[in-house]
Amino acid sequence: MSTNFDSTYLTDKQWYIPYSALQSAHNWEIIGYSSEERPLLYTSLGHGSRSICIWAGMHGNETTGVFIILSLIELFQKKQIDLEGFTLHLMPVANPDAYVRYSRRNGLGIDLNRDFSSFQTIESAKLVGWIKMHEPELCFNLHDQRTIFHVGGHSAYTSLLVPSAEITRTITPMRRALMNRLGNALSSMQVDLTGVGRYTDEYYPTAIGDYLMANGIANILIESGVKEGDLERRAARKFGLRTILATISADDSPSKVYDQLPLNEKGQLEWVFTNVLYAHMRVDVAIKRFHFVNGHAADYVYLVDEIGDLKAKPRMKEVDGTAIALAQPLELEKPVNGHFGDYLFEEGKILSL
Ligand SMILES: [Zn+2]
Repeated sequence: MSTNFDSTYLTDKQWYIPYSALQSAHNWEIIGYSSEERPLLYTSLGHGSRSICIWAGMHGNETTGVFIILSLIELFQKKQIDLEGFTLHLMPVANPDAYVRYSRRNGLGIDLNRDFSSFQTIESAKLVGWIKMHEPELCFNLHDQRTIFHVGGHSAYTSLLVPSAEITRTITPMRRALMNRLGNALSSMQVDLTGVGRYTDEYYPTAIGDYLMANGIANILIESGVKEGDLERRAARKFGLRTILATISADDSPSKVYDQLPLNEKGQLEWVFTNVLYAHMRVDVAIKRFHFVNGHAADYVYLVDEIGDLKAKPRMKEVDGTAIALAQPLELEKPVNGHFGDYLFEEGKILSL
């Protein structure tokens, strides 16, 4: 299979598509409506007997999977991917009320990924009904992870998980087979796995992946993350797409490649200015980019993330701040202001370079 995928959904720097634009981007079917009566979109690719379900946008502020699903559709239509023997069932946004707000929770303030036990939301009930209707041999649950995650000091740009089926995290035969299959897929991709980690397999009975495993439905969690200079997660889009395609066609002969991926760790900073003069002292200052959607427009602002001695923490980008003297006060979680060497920030926007 070629890996020279020609899709702007994989490469462009936009990280949000308004829901109305998403609706008109493809001839979707509608499988129901959210609690605020937005359509739940669905489509399928291929006509094979082996059924695969893939969904994204369960958390509305995690959009990488939406781009992965759009690229799958585009590449299939351009005949750049071959789905012989398979049918892919795709739901690009499982939680549209959260998506339009660019928020984690649905319109009622409920986190869907804590609702796969009692099904108190329309959206979780619809999603699980849709999955079970298609009797999938495998599912992919697409999420985004925060920029705090790293693996061995490298930014965790994709983390994978074969979820637990119960509290003791036993490696059941189904789970082992799926770990093997994913491991064989990663081998077949022949890519550098630096920055690819394993997500924690702590058991969350109300999360969808764990719920499905407990009910005998195999699924893989893909958590897309960032790389330095790639806060739009384009590298993760491409890696996620390739992982899906490689895994559906991989077998489950023994492999330890998945097991050997390093575990995700927390504590990474985005952008650190070291040794800055601030209030007569030398300190390190970390800032981070916060994405939001204003109406339908994607936007972002830089916020103050951490102040103090930060040398023990891994970071994506570092600037020697010895020549920087900050005149304006810093406030955690508030927009960045002031001259940071070559960068002038005003209310969290970079005005000049
Ligand atoms: Zn998520």
